[in-house]
Amino acid sequence: MTMTTANLLEFDLDGLAAFCEKLGEKRFRATQLFRWIHQRGVADFAQMTDLAKSLRDKLATTAHVAPLPVVSRHESVDGTIKWLFDVGDGNAVEAVFIPEDDRGTLCVSSQAGCAVGCRFCSTGHQGFSRNLTTGEIVAQLWFAEHFLRKHLARTERVISNVVMMGMGEPLQNYSALVPALRTMLDDNAYGLSRRRVTVSTSGVVPMIDRLGGDCPVALAVSLHAPNDALRDDLVPLNRKYPIAELLEACQRYLEHAPRDFITFEYCMLDGVNDRPEHAQQLVDLVRGQGISCKFNLIPFNPFPASGLLRSPQARVLAFAKVLSEAGIVTTVRKTRGDDIDAACGQLAGDVKDRTRASERMAQRRIVIHPRPARAAPDAQEP
Ligand code: SAH
Ligand code: SF4
Repeated sequence: MTMTTANLLEFDLDGLAAFCEKLGEKRFRATQLFRWIHQRGVADFAQMTDLAKSLRDKLATTAHVAPLPVVSRHESVDGTIKWLFDVGDGNAVEAVFIPEDDRGTLCVSSQAGCAVGCRFCSTGHQGFSRNLTTGEIVAQLWFAEHFLRKHLARTERVISNVVMMGMGEPLQNYSALVPALRTMLDDNAYGLSRRRVTVSTSGVVPMIDRLGGDCPVALAVSLHAPNDALRDDLVPLNRKYPIAELLEACQRYLEHAPRDFITFEYCMLDGVNDRPEHAQQLVDLVRGQGISCKFNLIPFNPFPASGLLRSPQARVLAFAKVLSEAGIVTTVRKTRGDDIDAACGQLAGDVKDRTRASERMAQRRIVIHPRPARAAPDAQEP
């Protein structure tokens, strides 16, 4: 293997077929090869015994399968596993496996760092280094799936769901994302159903539209605020794509997947976005648009540089009640893996910041809205 040979993890099945065609091979050979790599986790062409010797020889000189070096692995008491992968040049990204009774979810990173710079997100505070390639996105799933099968002594699939909720904004790395999603969905690879692969976005409106046309997987939108003034501050991308435009894009997305719904994620920040009035504003927003949706309230996972605190449980429940009583399905996310810093927004990897984000963040104004001295819902808090 030399550095100039092709990394086959970079290809979806069409890409691999095109590569094989250049080697003078038919498409069904690409399908066989794709299955060996993704379904069986084999990286060594010599072991792919049903491929002709001539093809294996050609592959040995033109291609390789490049896993990401594992820097570390941590296991939480709740079974959550977090891997840190080296992606070169001093950058490392994280992936997290979250086992549940009825599913196994892998949370996958799309970038080393993130350029959006959300105030409450530790990845955002690290700034941006670079986009991951398709192969680096797929390698997280490839490695985790085959590691877990061995680790758990399972022959059948372990990972049933993928969420693009690790480090990075997936829709700011669109061209690498889509072939990776196609590989996740392909029956000759991971065979995940469209609704079990979720792209989470802070709201890159034009790319939401493209994703709807190209690969309409489940869409989660990180809303976090019910009005533009607050969202501009928490999710700076809102200044470019304000809430009204974002909700219209969500509506258009559902035209590609009419029986689906949008999941709105809402990180509960103490004294910032967690009042009952905020919940009521959300109700008015989504009712106004008539969007088929549900809400996922995420208790904020604090980190020192944010200067923010988690909303008390009673306030989260009061917030959820306003939404539920308006007929909106609302869940409160269970925090998993926080003993190993694997919970939402705690993924920090190791990023060579090219954007000086932490300096800029430190200079930004912290908006904590004053709370009325004796607001009724808060009176119940411990
Ligand atoms: N960039 C994408 C996907 C990665 S973030 C996005 O923003 O949607 C995945 C989810 O974790 C998002 O909903 C994000 O808002 C949330 N999140 C980020 N930091 C968090 C924190 N400190 N506590 C709780 N949730 C957080
Ligand atoms: Fe980027 Fe998402 Fe973190 Fe915002 S919440 S900084 S978009 S990773």
